Amino acid sequence: MDPTLTVLLYSSLAAGTAALGAFPFVFRERLPITQIGWANALAAGMMLGASYSLLVTGLDRQVVRGAVGAALGILFVYWTHAASKTEDLDLNRLDESEPVYGYQVLLVNTLHSAAEGIAIGVAMIVSIPFGVFVAGAIAVHNIPEATILCAILTGRGVRVRDAGGLAVAANVSQVLLAVVTFTVISAAPSMLPWALGFAVGALIYLVMSELLPESYQQAGSTTIALVTLAAMGVVALLQGVGG
Ligand SMILES: [Zn+2]
Repeated sequence: MDPTLTVLLYSSLAAGTAALGAFPFVFRERLPITQIGWANALAAGMMLGASYSLLVTGLDRQVVRGAVGAALGILFVYWTHAASKTEDLDLNRLDESEPVYGYQVLLVNTLHSAAEGIAIGVAMIVSIPFGVFVAGAIAVHNIPEATILCAILTGRGVRVRDAGGLAVAANVSQVLLAVVTFTVISAAPSMLPWALGFAVGALIYLVMSELLPESYQQAGSTTIALVTLAAMGVVALLQGVGG
């Protein structure tokens, strides 16, 4: 298969798994806030695992370029949050009734997915099997993330089916950025260390600024730390076994 098509296929599959995040709401109207916290911690841990894999892969390349790339990745996430006025947006105000809040949450998710798209594209450049692995980790991680988004949307009166659809739509940026990143770096391979660093910086910053602070508010710090570390460990372990 043409490599770009492979990137398109796997990033689309990863985006599509977000629909599964709506599943719990078929059976019940609301999830307890602690379960939302666990979902956040699971998503955070898998994201850390994917970042770890990218970091390990990048370390034997040009480290300084990678470090500068990481700083740029952090700046990118910071700037997109600031420009969209969502830097301090609480993603757990399930009863928030302001209309603008729903759009802001969708926007945050779209920007977040864009950074993950870059990570998938970069990993696909390193090697297709590694890219498939990272896309898989992001795909599984998209499920708990979509559950949180669906909790907010269904709480605002959106039907479960539509909430699942919106969760997938928020991940379209992932597919787009994965394909663009793959195409650009295929044409200019010298950008790889920068892009690897960028993806790692952006992903870890998202975990620390977006996912983890929320989850500590939603469930106890010990549970969150353990769930996050276990999820990260499983992803790192799977990479170790596969690679
Ligand atoms: Zn994510």
